[in-house]
Amino acid sequence: MNAYDEINIKLLEASKYIKNDVSDGTLEMITTPWREIVVSCPIKMDNGDTKVFSGYRIQHNAVRGPYKGGVRYHPDADQNEVKALSSLMTWKNALVNIPFGGAKGGIQVSAGDLSKSELHNLTKRYTLSIDKFLGPNTDIPAPDLGTNAQTMAWMMDAYGSIHGYTPAIVTGKPVELGGSVGRDSATGRGVVFVIDEICSNLKLNPQENSLAIQGFGQVGKWIAKIAYEKKYKIVAVSDVSNAIYNKNGINVDELVTHYEKDKSFANFENVDFISNNELLNLKCDFLVPAAIERVINKDNADKVQCKFLIEAANHPLTPEADDILESKNISVFPDTLVNSGGVIVSYFEWIQNLYQHHWEIERVNSELQKIITKAFNEVYDKSHSENINYRLSALSIGLDRVIHTAGLRGYI
Ligand code: GLU
Repeated sequence: MNAYDEINIKLLEASKYIKNDVSDGTLEMITTPWREIVVSCPIKMDNGDTKVFSGYRIQHNAVRGPYKGGVRYHPDADQNEVKALSSLMTWKNALVNIPFGGAKGGIQVSAGDLSKSELHNLTKRYTLSIDKFLGPNTDIPAPDLGTNAQTMAWMMDAYGSIHGYTPAIVTGKPVELGGSVGRDSATGRGVVFVIDEICSNLKLNPQENSLAIQGFGQVGKWIAKIAYEKKYKIVAVSDVSNAIYNKNGINVDELVTHYEKDKSFANFENVDFISNNELLNLKCDFLVPAAIERVINKDNADKVQCKFLIEAANHPLTPEADDILESKNISVFPDTLVNSGGVIVSYFEWIQNLYQHHWEIERVNSELQKIITKAFNEVYDKSHSENINYRLSALSIGLDRVIHTAGLRGYI
């Protein structure tokens, strides 16, 4: 089963818990992307050869506002993968109630294998291939796995070369080009706000609660840093090559300094080196996959021993894993809620660009906390009052909003 089918299985399950009446046609609408753009991006590599990369922009649904979602550079970013991620953006944006539809882009490439100028050319070619379908009121890309603020600067520049100065065309840009302060840490900060809410609802003390985090990139590193500041015990972290563990807690300040210098955990002291799979199987309070999809699946879900599974990555669990964890009484907090901090602050960035205005960091972080906490409470309350898991609760809240708005527009 591909990732898109997996998302649709859960959506159809969630559609049983919505307030709106739902017909087969409506279900077809929510499980079918509105537009799928596939482009070939030829670029000249540094060695003089020409290479062609496949690029996608899937515009899943726009009943609630312009399409919004990141662009991923990854070898697995094929059409189905990007479709799945575009659908998740629709439900995420609806859940946190920001005025956007959902989209996702991707190029099937291992970004680490390309030089800076190759990446620049590829980004330019991709942007110019899809520019007619983008716009500040149409579709607004952002960073995702394998892309960053620099990629967004190149996208903004390529789009601007045709349409003129348009900072609101992308979010997650460098601050000097109209990016928002706090956007780089926003996804990680949002994840920790969610963990804070779980602790406050269940009267748990951060100091007595351990986190194991898979991934030390743009999301995982910030989760570790912010959670460490709040005195949670970070017992394990990993990157693609290594995982490290200390049951008494890792000094994350020292780790960040070490990692920024060496770009690796190797030679970091006072930790045991374990495998990525061992990290997923650790006995801990919060297990936080913050890397790629489907890392927990039918082959390893049985060994997961955390109390709470916090989906900082998009779609880290297959539906089978979801069921296995549920049968083990592990509470899964879903991606559409947990990692929504990134797109929430993207929304703030878009507003700032439209008004040519800048917010202070305190305002960004406190508005982020307000929005994500409200969404958390809605998901938590619906889950407990209707006796359904948090994923079905989150998806059904998003579904209700999208279906209601589709009705107002006259689609159903
Ligand atoms: N790529 C991020 C996500 O999956 C952020 C998207 C955005 O800011 O538009 O939510």
